[in-house]
Amino acid sequence: MAAVDFPPSQHFIDGEWVAARDGGTLDVLDPATRQVITEVARAGGDDVDDAVTAARRAFPGWAATNPSERGALLRRWADLIIAEVEALAAVEARDVGKPLSGGRTNMYIAHGIVDYFAGAADKLTGVTLPTRGPDYLGYTVPEPYGVCAVIIPWNVPAVLTAANVAPALAAGNTVVLKPSEIAPLAPFALAALAHRAGFPPGVVNVVTGLGPEAGVALTSHPGVDHISFVGSTATGRAIMTAAARNLVPVKLELGGKSPNVLLADADLDTAIPAIVTSITENAGQNCYAGARLLVDASVHDEVVERVAAAMAAVKSGPWDADPDMGPLVSAAQFARVSGFLEEAPREGARLVTGGAPTGEGWFVRPTVYDRVDANMRVAREEVFGPVLAVQSFRDTAEATALMNATDFGLLACIWTNDISRALRLAKDVRSGQVTVNQFHDAGVIGFPFNMQKDSGFSRGGGYAALREYTQEKGVAIRLLDR
Ligand code: NAD
Repeated sequence: MAAVDFPPSQHFIDGEWVAARDGGTLDVLDPATRQVITEVARAGGDDVDDAVTAARRAFPGWAATNPSERGALLRRWADLIIAEVEALAAVEARDVGKPLSGGRTNMYIAHGIVDYFAGAADKLTGVTLPTRGPDYLGYTVPEPYGVCAVIIPWNVPAVLTAANVAPALAAGNTVVLKPSEIAPLAPFALAALAHRAGFPPGVVNVVTGLGPEAGVALTSHPGVDHISFVGSTATGRAIMTAAARNLVPVKLELGGKSPNVLLADADLDTAIPAIVTSITENAGQNCYAGARLLVDASVHDEVVERVAAAMAAVKSGPWDADPDMGPLVSAAQFARVSGFLEEAPREGARLVTGGAPTGEGWFVRPTVYDRVDANMRVAREEVFGPVLAVQSFRDTAEATALMNATDFGLLACIWTNDISRALRLAKDVRSGQVTVNQFHDAGVIGFPFNMQKDSGFSRGGGYAALREYTQEKGVAIRLLDR
């Protein structure tokens, strides 16, 4: 961690590391040991105001830079991320409790995203517009919003920092980032590298603190021009309400309850390991986690048996033992998942494997429930743990109904070699992303990271994200020279 050291208990505001004005701090815990790793500053309204003021001050100068200069700074940042990738991976892995290999994957993705927007910064262009005739000219100009507030959760903090901060900066905005109080260390490490890359003071600011304090202060601040929020659907509703007061545009990436839909002809040797990874990676704490398995009744028994055996073989452990899966991130998350584990059997779900905490820390066993009914909470609500709910169907119509029997609409993954049925299901599912014969491939930077229904309505991933951080001005001109 030494290579990306940053001072404990400090915000990063206006190019400086500063303590909270009232000296407040929050403990950051290692989820595997529940020991304190370090302290971070606890922002109140004054600290948030300082950060927004710095970002406002920096905005005109930053927006006026040549886009290729912004791209060059982003590339320098990307290069520093790669140079420090092992140290960064360890910071994220320990803070979130994920295996070191998961931290490393996340850092390579974060690097890829920053590198992508380094290249994209000077590709943002407007278009010419249709006009009344030859004496008229019309065109659009992409413009940054100004100060972008970015609020992110704890599950993939490095990737979400990169995915929001990099396009915002590339488009000419300045940023105030509020990471989750539960896992803020990788965003700070990335901010330290952005500082080293040479971004001018105030262009990137990071404040830590609690949602109801720092988060509310940021989303209600009149100096904020755009809000990006990644987190739970419940908080997303609160953010949108706050944004309405100042009439600020908001981009929401929220929860999910994604189905793996397995048809009878699927290649099980490919599908089963991917299905297991989809719900055990990051201990099931991914927004797109494959939390529901919808399986053709004719192969149900074989599939459930094989999935359960593979889930039972998943090796849990602390991040530095490089297990398959780490603990849940916090006491609150542990209590939440334990609640589902207690309730699912009472609702009538059949426990196939797992079901109980391991007895150590916040570790829970990979769990499979079969005979899940669409009305059960374990089928409807986001557990955000390694808990798989299995349902079966007899035909495509039933599969479609089950896929869509959720308030969420993030990802659906279809396993089959029957091209017509795959395309039919891809067409009929209400979700922002669909994959066939592979689970989500977050490493492909340009893939649309889109959401529908209660999962939100952002357009992320690649060039579309640059557009999300840009407003468009239309210009119409009458030529009076004849
Ligand atoms: P959360 O909603 O509790 O918190 C997210 C962030 O919002 C944190 O930084 C928190 O401090 C802040 N916050 C909380 N209340 C706030 C308020 N009233 N005003 C302003 N900020 C506030 O979510 P979490 O538990 O940290 O993360 C898990 C959730 O994130 C899951 O639902 C998961 O699906 C979702 N998620 C979604 C995506 C996506 O791209 N769709 C990606 C990752 C995680």
